[in-house]
Amino acid sequence: MTERLHLLVPAAGTGSRAGTAQPKQYQTLAGQAMVCHTLRALLAVPGVSSLSVVVSPDDSRMAALLAADPVWAGVRVRPVGGASRAASVSAGLQALRGEGHSERDWVLVHDAARCLVQPEWIQALIQTCRHDPVGGLLAMPVPDTLKQADGQDRVQATLARADKWLAQTPQMFRLGDLWRALQAAGESVTDEASAIEALGLAPRLVRGHALNFKVTYPEDLALAEWVLAARSQIPIAHGEHRT
Ligand code: C5P
Repeated sequence: MTERLHLLVPAAGTGSRAGTAQPKQYQTLAGQAMVCHTLRALLAVPGVSSLSVVVSPDDSRMAALLAADPVWAGVRVRPVGGASRAASVSAGLQALRGEGHSERDWVLVHDAARCLVQPEWIQALIQTCRHDPVGGLLAMPVPDTLKQADGQDRVQATLARADKWLAQTPQMFRLGDLWRALQAAGESVTDEASAIEALGLAPRLVRGHALNFKVTYPEDLALAEWVLAARSQIPIAHGEHRT
């Protein structure tokens, strides 16, 4: 592969749905800030040229947190985050472009709040997408029956689930494509793939893992902590049921 790989972690959100006193990326889980679990997994992905974390311009905490341990020496903190996830990702891409990286380099955008991600899931994404003309994302087929609500918590319709997937991250696209897509899509898109789709392109769906959920609600914090604690005690088998 001649194109390089860059990992970009938007972490400029306030995490208001998690019900935590501080932004959720700093919430302590199994003895460490959530973002540190995420970054440890990303640092273990082989063949990566750069790893950046995008934080708000007024956030000095990430730089201080990462400066405290040399294990994070390879992580670049970029205080260029914006009011939306799309704005934060765009600003991170702009920083990469400003450093002269090729438009054909791949960028893998990963939520700070998906702290249970495993390096091998990301490697599977890279393996599948590195020769793809568009790129793709980790995602999971929807396991449950899907209901359309009527606005008053009553079922309006039952939707066919056969072709429905839940989008996860990382989402992997070329630097130039993703930059142009986000400029055209504006701030309302909630993931990178939807900006790429708006250009008429069809991102590849790569099966992720149910444990690659985004810590969003208070109960997610407890579940993530339980999994992290279990992983630190039990060696992870490279079988089908690993976490
Ligand atoms: O808010 P949500 O859970 O969708 O955020 C997904 C990711 O995007 C999180 O890692 C969050 O920190 C990041 N984000 C950001 N800038 C924002 C809003 C969210 O970097 N303005």
